Amino acid sequence: MNFRKTKIISTLGPATQSPEKIKELIEAGVNVFRLNMSHASHDWTRDTVKYIREQSSALDKSVATLVDLQGPSIRTGDVEEKLSLSKGETVEFRNSDLEPSQPISVTTNYDKLFEDVSVDDVMLVDNGEIHFKVRKIETGRLICEVLTDGKMGSRRHINLPGIRVNLPALTKKDLLDLDIAAELDVDYVAISFVRDAAHIRYLREQLEERHCAANIVAKIEDQEAVRNLSDIIRETDAVMVARGDLGIEVHIEELPVIQRAILKEAARIGRKVIVATHMLESMVENPVPTRAEVSDVANAVFEQADAVMVSGETSVGQYPIKCIDVLDRIARRMEKEPGANFCADIDLRTEKQFTVKSAVVLANSLDDASIIIFTARGVLANYTAHQRPEKANIFAFSPDDKVVRSLHLNRGVRPYQMEFAENPDDSIRQAIEFLKKRKEIEEGDPVVILSDVLNEDFDTDAILLRRA
Ligand code: PEP
Repeated sequence: MNFRKTKIISTLGPATQSPEKIKELIEAGVNVFRLNMSHASHDWTRDTVKYIREQSSALDKSVATLVDLQGPSIRTGDVEEKLSLSKGETVEFRNSDLEPSQPISVTTNYDKLFEDVSVDDVMLVDNGEIHFKVRKIETGRLICEVLTDGKMGSRRHINLPGIRVNLPALTKKDLLDLDIAAELDVDYVAISFVRDAAHIRYLREQLEERHCAANIVAKIEDQEAVRNLSDIIRETDAVMVARGDLGIEVHIEELPVIQRAILKEAARIGRKVIVATHMLESMVENPVPTRAEVSDVANAVFEQADAVMVSGETSVGQYPIKCIDVLDRIARRMEKEPGANFCADIDLRTEKQFTVKSAVVLANSLDDASIIIFTARGVLANYTAHQRPEKANIFAFSPDDKVVRSLHLNRGVRPYQMEFAENPDDSIRQAIEFLKKRKEIEEGDPVVILSDVLNEDFDTDAILLRRA
């Protein structure tokens, strides 16, 4: 049976937080649900994870859960009503403990802003829409000139393209949100505005302190992260091309270039990669995507993304289920094209990776082959997915439900929970029968078996070739 290799991540929000909508999203093909902590309360997070698990178990379709931390984002404070700003006007950004010194004055949540920026730097506010030039700096205050007209509401995000900020890797709010991620035993935690590999190590320590085994997703969203790309990718489990902020932090024409660089580097090092944001933005309001959006999704599939992610499209949009259907159709169609699944330059280092390579070469040389993996921690399955078998589907079996859930982000992997039998042959037979029953493979199909767990006396990884 042909299944979609590229995975779909759907952000939940007011449009989709009910158990019924979550059920429809799972049925439509969502593999991973994203909970965006910039908007989520802890009670909402608890309820939503409960609904996800209940619906997934009722449908017998396992899915993963990703908690996306807000990260150290710089925001303006509250304003009574939206400020209408015109080019040439003066606006003050001040620390919240100071009184205004200008007729138009807004507070920010970052007290060191005045230390990090210089005169003539450009600040972008509200999704990059309103531009300001810093004209004068005083302790706790920036006096800025408005460069582009705009209306500025409360708690707008401030981007400082190319400017190194001294914000911590995780804020107090992020640490509290990690408590709930650990309590709910989520599968992925995404770190926003990661700037270097040390930030990932710090998050890993924080997860370990909370006995949380979640995988880490590093969101690449500014120039510093792009400069430290290889180190960040080496340290993380997965990486996200977070095009929302990245598209503000870099010149827009650089965005596709950086997207390609991230996908290539993730492939080379062997990490999962997600392409996110504005994939089907017009579908927040319209039932059909633009032609350009269709091409953008297809391009991400063709560039070997493990997953594509939608945000507003499913959290607040009017057509969340249709969005998943559109992503599903584009991915399936692109994956059928010759050469759509290819293994780019990959840096193989360990014996295990070379063993996997032999299995992938074997599967590529056989018609209608599948790869069945028996894995305790998911490592073999990760390696196999990263090597992108050309046609073979990858079926990963693990006794550990958590490992199974984490593999929902890997391109081309269909993970299942299974207790292993005493005798390795029984486990193999059981897995083949299970897949035949689900019509995933057919009688007589070649199956390449990869295992590092079936036989305890056998301390090397095993490759076997069987017929279903
Ligand atoms: C992004 O910037 O593309 C992104 C996914 O992050 P957030 O939605 O948290 O701003």
